[in-house]
Amino acid sequence: MEETYDVIIIGGGVVGCACVFELTSRGFSCLLLEKNEHLAAEASSGNSGMLHTGFDATEGLELDCIQRCQARVFPLLDKLGVPVNHIGATMVAWDEQQLERFPQIVANSNAAKCTTMHELSCSELYKREPNITSGALGALWIPGEAVTDPWLFPVLLANDACKKGARILLRSRVCSVVRNTEMWIVETTRGTFNSKCVVNCAGLYGDIVNILAGKSEFRILPRKGQYTVYSKSAQNLLNSSILPVPSDVTKGVIVFRSVYDNVIVGPTAENVDSRRQAPVDESIRLRLTEIAAKVVRELPSHPVVSLYTGVRPATDVKDYIISAETERNWITVGGIRSTGLSGSLGIAEKVHSLVKTSLNIEPDRGQSLFISKPDVSFTRHGSAIVDGVEHFITHPLTFAGRTEYVANSRM
Ligand SMILES: Cc1cc2nc3c(=O)[nH]c(=O)nc-3n(C[C@H](O)[C@H](O)[C@H](O)COP(=O)(O)OP(=O)(O)OC[C@H]3O[C@@H](n4cnc5c(N)ncnc54)[C@H](O)[C@@H]3O)c2cc1C
Repeated sequence: MEETYDVIIIGGGVVGCACVFELTSRGFSCLLLEKNEHLAAEASSGNSGMLHTGFDATEGLELDCIQRCQARVFPLLDKLGVPVNHIGATMVAWDEQQLERFPQIVANSNAAKCTTMHELSCSELYKREPNITSGALGALWIPGEAVTDPWLFPVLLANDACKKGARILLRSRVCSVVRNTEMWIVETTRGTFNSKCVVNCAGLYGDIVNILAGKSEFRILPRKGQYTVYSKSAQNLLNSSILPVPSDVTKGVIVFRSVYDNVIVGPTAENVDSRRQAPVDESIRLRLTEIAAKVVRELPSHPVVSLYTGVRPATDVKDYIISAETERNWITVGGIRSTGLSGSLGIAEKVHSLVKTSLNIEPDRGQSLFISKPDVSFTRHGSAIVDGVEHFITHPLTFAGRTEYVANSRM
């Protein structure tokens, strides 16, 4: 007999993991289906690991989800034992034009009630960040920006959901979805499952999974980002994440320290055709080295330990797409482009609210909100043992930070 759940979640990136965590904690019986062998192996393994405050997000779903996430994420990271560094960010202006944008950036952030920001004079900037290359004209200090382990977080969210009764099925590509009068029948490469509701969190394949359900709400336009990761020997060069002043087109390349103290330069933003893992591009690598030197002159003299890329599930709209089709109990969570880690818990809250109030599905069981700290240890060869189960580390920042691995991981 086929198994039946309240909710089937398609996709085990940070968004799907946050959804299975939230819905299971709220008493729903959940199955998460992931086509890859490991969780968080696509967009969620190619990000910067930053927990943004949303100071530069435009009003809408994205900002709302980031703010909801900000309100909950730090106590949760603490309970789960995921490291976080409240390192703050310094946005540096290198010319007059950039300096002139500061009042607008501060006004936007104030209007969105996102975070506090302080303008820094040149002397204050160089006092805080003495290793920054000379020539900066001024800066904004954004204390709320933080960094975390972008791989451990989703893995531990999924692990917590499992402990509360959720089922996570890897190597299970969803091939077809059919709705009968009462249920979704979801066919995968590892069997067929039924549910009252489906939540599509398929990231870079979100539009394709929606097409399986006869929907064509949006189209994914993959956008690549590339990084250079320097050794921890460079960690004392920075006291915060150094942001460029964003233009109308891009947020620009950041020089920052991971939660494990590697110094990273990236990401770039290039529209690409393929949704698959993008190759490292030599000309972009050279550009990143130039940017590194422009921001912190000494940085390129430190060893590079990894180069990696990520692909953002962008669409032609700027905001997230989170919608419910109430006639058939289908929820789309699409186009979670460049802040999915920072918005994950807020997205999951929205999904829970849609399941409960728009689709009127009542959970099978009572809530289970207690978090028992998982037992986590890292191996030297690039995996973590979580409550006795081995997980391969898919994120290069966690890999570089937690292992003795020194090489180009994604050349
Ligand atoms: C370069 C870059 C930098 C970024 N920096 C940050 C940052 O600093 N902070 C931040 O908050 N965000 C950042 N992001 C954004 C963040 O990484 C994404 O928003 C987030 O990872 C999206 O998660 P997701 O779960 O929607 O997608 P994914 O991680 O892609 O997960 C979707 C999953 O669905 C699975 N799937 C697809 N189709 C099927 C199917 N048919 N059957 C079963 N499973 C399927 C896939 O295998 C995949 O695992 C960045 C992204 C990039 C690329």
